Amino acid sequence: MPMSETINTTCPYCGVGCGLLVEQDGDGGWLIQGDPDHPSNQGRLCSKGTALNETLDLDGRLLSPLVDGIQVDWDQAIERVAKRFRQVIDEHGPDAVAFYVSGQLLTEDYYVANKLMKGFIGSGNIDTNSRLCMSSSVAGHKRAFGSDTVPGCYEDFEQAELIVLTGSNTAWCHPVLYRRIVKAKENNPALKVVVIDPRETASCEIADLHLPLKPGSDSLLFNGLLSFLDSHDAKAHDFVATHTEGLEEALKLARWYAPTARAAAEQCGLPLDDLLTLFHWFLQKKRVVTLYSQGINQTSSGTDKVNSIINCHLYSGRIGQPGMGPFSITGQPNAMGGREVGALSNQLACHMDIENRDHRSLLGRFWRSDSVTEKPGLKAVDLYRAVESGEIKALWVMATNPAVSMPDANQVRRALEKCEFLVVSDCMAETDTARYADVLLPAQGWGEKSGTVTSSERTISRQHGFLRSAGEAKPDWWILSQVAQRMGYQGFDYGAVAQIFSEYAELSGFENGGRRDFDISALAGLDAESYDRLKPIQWPVVNGQAKGTPRLFSDGRFYTPSGRAQFVAVTPKPPGNTPSETYPLALNTGRVRDQWHTMTRTGKSPRLSGHDNEPFAEIHPQDADVSHVVEGGLVRVSSRWGDVVVRARLSERQQLGQIFVPMHWNDQFASNATVDCLVNPALDPISGQPEFKHTPVAIEAYKPTWYGFLLTREKVMLEDATYWAKAKRDGLWHFELAGESAAEDWSALARNLLSSASDTSQWAEMMDSAGGQYRGVSVNDGQLQSCLFIGPDHDLPKRDWLVQLFAKKHLSRQERLRLLAGAPMNAQEDAGKTVCACFGVGLNTLVSAIEDQGLQSAQAIGEKLKAGTNCGSCLSEINRLIKERQAQTA
Ligand code: SF4
Repeated sequence: MPMSETINTTCPYCGVGCGLLVEQDGDGGWLIQGDPDHPSNQGRLCSKGTALNETLDLDGRLLSPLVDGIQVDWDQAIERVAKRFRQVIDEHGPDAVAFYVSGQLLTEDYYVANKLMKGFIGSGNIDTNSRLCMSSSVAGHKRAFGSDTVPGCYEDFEQAELIVLTGSNTAWCHPVLYRRIVKAKENNPALKVVVIDPRETASCEIADLHLPLKPGSDSLLFNGLLSFLDSHDAKAHDFVATHTEGLEEALKLARWYAPTARAAAEQCGLPLDDLLTLFHWFLQKKRVVTLYSQGINQTSSGTDKVNSIINCHLYSGRIGQPGMGPFSITGQPNAMGGREVGALSNQLACHMDIENRDHRSLLGRFWRSDSVTEKPGLKAVDLYRAVESGEIKALWVMATNPAVSMPDANQVRRALEKCEFLVVSDCMAETDTARYADVLLPAQGWGEKSGTVTSSERTISRQHGFLRSAGEAKPDWWILSQVAQRMGYQGFDYGAVAQIFSEYAELSGFENGGRRDFDISALAGLDAESYDRLKPIQWPVVNGQAKGTPRLFSDGRFYTPSGRAQFVAVTPKPPGNTPSETYPLALNTGRVRDQWHTMTRTGKSPRLSGHDNEPFAEIHPQDADVSHVVEGGLVRVSSRWGDVVVRARLSERQQLGQIFVPMHWNDQFASNATVDCLVNPALDPISGQPEFKHTPVAIEAYKPTWYGFLLTREKVMLEDATYWAKAKRDGLWHFELAGESAAEDWSALARNLLSSASDTSQWAEMMDSAGGQYRGVSVNDGQLQSCLFIGPDHDLPKRDWLVQLFAKKHLSRQERLRLLAGAPMNAQEDAGKTVCACFGVGLNTLVSAIEDQGLQSAQAIGEKLKAGTNCGSCLSEINRLIKERQAQTA
């Protein structure tokens, strides 16, 4: 790429779909900034997007195809995959094979995978990991609208008078959209924001009202709202009469389960006045957006919850107009693209239905295939059960890590182990899933691949490659097309990605005539150059409307057979498994601010690892007390399905009886912290989406005989540790450690592990064998090389100051003298745990700025320290710190 060229692309993380501008920085690296012209983010990025340039190295990449662990060329790898799939299909039929794909794929990759499985192999057995995050929204949309349609757009948040965030920690999971809401509130102080969430999350920072409802009681709340609206004559009479059906039954059940606000409040465990505040705001404010995410979807009655929300919007006519509507926000960068191409096992391409004979016939004619599947395939959880039972004999996993991300992940690991033929295409060589693969295929990573993605608001954006492919990595669409051709199928001779997009756009309009919502036929036939220059555009994109469509349903026309939206009668249901004497607590899982999925990319960034460098469980202090779990100690969290050992964090922001463990850590980053190994496989019966938000668990203090930490420039492994968690920091690896039997000679172990024969490092050590203490540091040529601190309990020096010293080219005499103490003489030199990842501002620095320098606002802190002035992801923490300090001094 020429030095001066600027590439437009999009962020590979969440469903906000932020646009990026990428340039070479003149120093061998890349400058990655928010694209001011992209409609999703208007130049903003969150901490993850800002740190993308730290994730581009080749460390850990899969560089060439491997068959049975042996490097082969592409031809051999393709031959092996095609031959084995063909053999299984010939012997056992098409349903004996399956694909498990991902919202990380680009739309064109997704399209080809789905075309191959559903159109030519003739099985519905392709499911996507979007099943785990979005399928209840899809099912809810289809029941209400007749189509999987997100009616609104991000601008609606700026035009709303009331925004209800339910089951969504938007501040951390969709930070740029959250900043848009913050800005909207600054511009319009009358805008009300309500957060409905059992936990007090970072999103509560701007909430006018937080409703910490009982886990799983969401549809009681929205049934209560529907009853309340009805008893206050809030019906949009004309809209309901002309454009909807099924109100009577929905109202009957709403009134039965939650006849009054008081009844709803009692069942949701909420103060009546608080619930009434929400109900009255909903009643009074015309422009209402209800944004929902995994807290609604990832439950065993997620589809009903989605419909209970949509019911309220239909009843009051709050849909299809500026500033209003139900709004499902997607987790992954291209979850929407996957839904559009039909990568869920119960869908066909371009929002067509497997059960619909006309749709199947249409696809067969368009693809010139007489093998289009006639029945849905297995949904993710059932798919892995079928792999374990041997019903599915050949499985191809693309761009995802089910050994970490599926519920009951131990079952998935057993299935992968047993699978007769497992192909994994990924950009990383070592993942918890890849270790089971018979064939590993190197796929291009972000920055190398090229295609399109669709954001939560239906905006299709280009993703452009700007890096050379790593090793022999290839685009996923190319790999799939080669296998398809080798299996003897016609229609896969694609020469370029633009060709695939054009075919896909043409299919969306094929015999459509306005009967299907997904139609981008105006983009069919784009040549390579026009495709390359394609600007972000919201679907539908049909001729005569070439600018795209910000909102649907403005005309009250829906895609159901009657053309009317459907109310759905909702019977509230408790979580699939309820707490018991043995497992008395309810486990909730989710994201942390600075990590993404299974950390294959974000785990490479020192900046992002500074915020949370270790897996943890957030526990209410009273629950911790009962089990003798202490702040900073280790805790074993167990369920019927498995267990993890993580660091305990006590917090009253967690409700009594509930705990939270993040979803990201896995065997590559910790000894035993894959939380999905203990998540129950309870499923929504309609969508098949698993219940990640509620698993009964027990906690107990995990008491090793020693604790420690290791900071080292080399990636090493301390075999004596039964507990370990590792994080990349700036110029070093940071290991947290604990073990059940102490080394006989810590000094010998440290020197063996951390020094080579030619090493000229100088060691300083401190030992107290009787007290179980060891501290050793090595310095080479004035630079800190490694620190190993061991003690009998977890009360060891804070690591932050030592971590900071690794960045110094030459330690001062004072610093060297304080190394074994693990803390500077002057406490202010220790910046503390990273809060602002963009500018590396630590907790201690912020506390000092608030207490000693009297900075009492995030703005004042930003002006002085720059913290919070770039992506803004840390502003909620800064504001909370200010409030806490003010409360302490009041
Ligand atoms: S909000 Fe952050 S993670 Fe999501 S797309 Fe934007 S920059 Fe990426």
